[in-house]
Amino acid sequence: MWNRNSMEITLDEIKELEEENICYVDVRSKVAYEHGHIPYALHLDNPSEDTFKMLPKDKLLIIYCSVGEKSLDIVKDLTKAGYCAVNLSGGYRAWLIETCQELSHAEINRYERQMILPEVGTEGQKKLKNSSVLIIGAGGLGSPAALYLAAAGIGRIGIADADKVSISNLQRQILHNINNIGVNKADSAKESMEKMNDCIEVEAYPYFITAQNITEIIEKYDFIIDAADNFETKFLINDACVIASKPFCHAGILRFEGQVMTYLPGKYPCYRCIFGEVPETGSIPSCGQAGIIGAVAGIVGCIQALEAIKYCLHAGELLVGKMLIINGLTMQFRMVGFGKKSPSCRVCGNKKDIFDISENASEYERKSSCLNT
Ligand SMILES: [Zn+2]
Repeated sequence: MWNRNSMEITLDEIKELEEENICYVDVRSKVAYEHGHIPYALHLDNPSEDTFKMLPKDKLLIIYCSVGEKSLDIVKDLTKAGYCAVNLSGGYRAWLIETCQELSHAEINRYERQMILPEVGTEGQKKLKNSSVLIIGAGGLGSPAALYLAAAGIGRIGIADADKVSISNLQRQILHNINNIGVNKADSAKESMEKMNDCIEVEAYPYFITAQNITEIIEKYDFIIDAADNFETKFLINDACVIASKPFCHAGILRFEGQVMTYLPGKYPCYRCIFGEVPETGSIPSCGQAGIIGAVAGIVGCIQALEAIKYCLHAGELLVGKMLIINGLTMQFRMVGFGKKSPSCRVCGNKKDIFDISENASEYERKSSCLNT
């Protein structure tokens, strides 16, 4: 039971009061108020004797800020001015935790900076928590993608890689560190992601993604990130995702350049629509031969993470039907439109001949050398 002489009130104590006798007053910034507030709360801009005049004198004013500290001073001023005011213990955050059972106190604290965005909010954060993303490749692209998806609170993340961490990976593969040399990259990635965020689940696939296992694995995820280092796996991811109607984000990097595109099932072109077939071995240099700047892998992998986050939130525009091409040396970011699907595409065109991944297994056997690890 709330003591009328107390300057503080808890959410439990408020439940005992008649709703028509109380009025919530939000004293946070206007931007914070606009992004989310307690229903029917008034916003008090620049609290002063002047602005107090807009508040009802016949109700108990429940004043709140973010955490219940700044608002206490305003309660004192209001009391002096003859209002009946009380401070909400724990502020808006306490109310969020109480009303948002699906997110823990720790999660609300952790994701506060993105939850104040109108595109995220409580509902968006719950969407991220209930989403799952599979990252194929824990190298230069997979590293930033995995870390930012883990940080954003994607509830379930899968990471697949058969290789072991070597010292020459550390120039760009920031998921791994000196203590993980010789450790499988998927296992090392899982350890890094879990160290950063203990509110999510990470599943490691410490083996190659092949024509035999891909369909079963992608089935468990909402969105796929192609962070693979060879053309055969890129075509395998594309064909398996198109057949399974699974959205994915492709990326490739070499030297100072990168490219990114997203595929959504339906009318949009796929990776094979644009590139046709796995290139002849040796026709395109590998990163081992041509080199790669780690920061370029970082930029491109971050864009892949952002595409996955936007897909999970249903926010913004995705890179569908177009490819973003980045030149890190000149800082030119170009968008190349591809419009429709290619009629001659073997997996989504009019005369497609790829219907079953495992029946075409030999096409996806790794022959080309690496692109980005
Ligand atoms: Zn296609």
